[in-house]
Amino acid sequence: MKILISNDDGFQAPGLVALHDALKDIAEVEVVAPEHNNSAKSNALTLAAPLYVHKAHNGFRYVTGTPADCVHIALKGLLDYRPDLVVSGINNGANMGDDTIYSGTVGAAMEAYLFGIPAIAFSQIEKGWAHVDAAAQVARRLVLQIEREKLIGGNPFLLNVNVPNLPFDQLKPVKVCRLGRRHAAEKVITQDSPRGETMYWIAGAGSAKDSGEGTDFHATAAGHVALTPLQIDLTDHANLGDWNETMARVARSAAGG
Ligand code: MN
Repeated sequence: MKILISNDDGFQAPGLVALHDALKDIAEVEVVAPEHNNSAKSNALTLAAPLYVHKAHNGFRYVTGTPADCVHIALKGLLDYRPDLVVSGINNGANMGDDTIYSGTVGAAMEAYLFGIPAIAFSQIEKGWAHVDAAAQVARRLVLQIEREKLIGGNPFLLNVNVPNLPFDQLKPVKVCRLGRRHAAEKVITQDSPRGETMYWIAGAGSAKDSGEGTDFHATAAGHVALTPLQIDLTDHANLGDWNETMARVARSAAGG
């Protein structure tokens, strides 16, 4: 099994190192990760500038771009093989509910999935890397289980996994979850710059709004590892019919004058 590893916290992040260490003896692993922190870059690709790839002493490759750039470059030019699996993370902080829209950790995995390669995004709930080795063990176990179930090489999948910051033996089993929802983000923070201009800082994500039973928020709060299968299609299927009727009505009233 060949695994490409990326992240959004940058190639020196402890979560990336832990993930690499946990997977390196169960697969052929290669790291292609951003040079700098690219959290909340989602699926952004760099189109108006060239990208450079360098190799660190530990063999990790780092890219002057986004997480999606890393995976894109790896798959479309850097690697001379097609990985069987792409894993991203382990992120410094939760990627639950609406976070998945913004997350560069998910973005890296999603880029692989768009190319038809199965991918898993791993995140720890709390920032600060407490028990990151336990989260890496969770990743290792899940990858082994997925391989044993012969899911690699079948239909591609995109999994979002969030791990509570607990010692490995205190983590509760994987729970398959839907995404919860967050409240709108907190108010933007303003400060005066030394040159007398107002600076705006995007503030923290909102707290959980839908954290009910079945959500990732609910499962991780109880100590479970939360696993959510994701899809790409943003179509609002439930409201396709209503919009068809609305636009037909608009057309009729336009024709009727
Ligand atoms: Mn991050």
